[in-house]
Amino acid sequence: MSIYTGPVFEMARTQFHRIADHLAIPADERDRLLYPKRAIAVSCPIHRDDGTTAVFQGYRVQHHLTLGPTKGGTRFAPSVDIGEVGALAVWMSWKCALAGLPYGGAKGGVTVDPRSLSRHELEALSRRYMQEMIPFVGPHTDVMAPDMGTNEQIMAWFMDTYSMYQGQTVMEIVTGKPVAVGGTLGRKEATGRGVAYLVERAMGRLGVPMAGATAIVQGFGNVGSVTVASLADRGVKLIGVSDHTACYADPRGLDVSALLQHVDKAGILAGFSTEALADPAGLLARPCDILVPAAMERVIDAAMAKRLQCRVLAEAANGPTTPDADEVLEQRPEIFVLPDILCNAGGVIVSYFEWVQDLQQFFWDEAEVTDRLYRVLQRAFAQVMERAGREGVSHRTAAMAIGVQKVRDAKQARGLFP
Ligand code: NAD
Repeated sequence: MSIYTGPVFEMARTQFHRIADHLAIPADERDRLLYPKRAIAVSCPIHRDDGTTAVFQGYRVQHHLTLGPTKGGTRFAPSVDIGEVGALAVWMSWKCALAGLPYGGAKGGVTVDPRSLSRHELEALSRRYMQEMIPFVGPHTDVMAPDMGTNEQIMAWFMDTYSMYQGQTVMEIVTGKPVAVGGTLGRKEATGRGVAYLVERAMGRLGVPMAGATAIVQGFGNVGSVTVASLADRGVKLIGVSDHTACYADPRGLDVSALLQHVDKAGILAGFSTEALADPAGLLARPCDILVPAAMERVIDAAMAKRLQCRVLAEAANGPTTPDADEVLEQRPEIFVLPDILCNAGGVIVSYFEWVQDLQQFFWDEAEVTDRLYRVLQRAFAQVMERAGREGVSHRTAAMAIGVQKVRDAKQARGLFP
């Protein structure tokens, strides 16, 4: 019996066993690779603005410590539980290994709808969560970053809380901070830019030009909005978009700069237009060249996978496609899948650059960050394509096999301890 339960961890477990079968990993080695090294659960009490006290549950899961510190985002969302955070930590391990970063995976989160808190309450919760985590994290133990529901400001509060406890500024304890306090140029844009870069590579292999191609993007937060902007820079036409408040579609193309300006001011898509409103349930199944789920897990199940009408499925979100849907997609070779651990790796790659710059106190310009990001992504993309071709397997199987194999090799070299 394990503490990691629920549909998201089940998904990570099923995917892992498929890869372990493919790599012929013996049964007695599997639990050691799959189950996280540590899980921390904390209660975070805060004073609410109305004078009452509220307690929120927080988690941090550190998957393996074999290759260096663990690294991973912090999610503030109502869905957060130990199973979801555990799955995201496991995926981070395969992602970091695929990109060649010296990290194990981690993930954390608080079970809360951050929109239900005032700014003052959000700051109190962020600081309290980091305060509770201080014994378990550190620049060479576990380095946090943003994820769904968290942002640069929250990373600044995390960094400040940790630094006050240490009695000195420790920038390298979190990544995704504002540039003003040791963040790197290009981090906020990194995940979305990486998605667009890899989509261009995939379209190149299909022989479909980017200019004039059509895209649909689900989610318009950090990752979705930058992906939309970066695809538009490459001449792609956005024909559908959604967030948790609204869904718009127009085959003639939506006005991307007006959308970005609206969300910059309003924070949400609702209120952008009354003309292009569409049904969110059917958005992913609309015909398009490039489909980008950039919001939540498990939005493409087997039934949805049968309905997809895209050329490239770019998994910007973590875990958007269920293992059942993978089986369907393996029978649909006309859809080019960019699996999540490759597609959204830009975020952790530039987080790594931020950590390196903070440790060295030597900061790069944005062109250097982006250029290095594309080089790492290009190498990982080429490795996945080569392995998928050589072994006749799906892109996801190839990407995960590379990641799992690297972690396995390191564990075999070091022994049982880490
Ligand atoms: P975010 O909180 O900035 O944005 C999330 C977006 O999803 C918001 O626009 C929200 O409205 C939308 N959303 C929520 N429920 C929805 C629904 N039912 N239908 C449509 N849209 C919905 O989060 P983010 O940082 O952009 O992360 C999005 C995804 O990308 C997550 O899966 C996250 O794990 C993954 N990811 C993020 C990063 C990063 O650098 N931030 C890196 C790698 C992967």
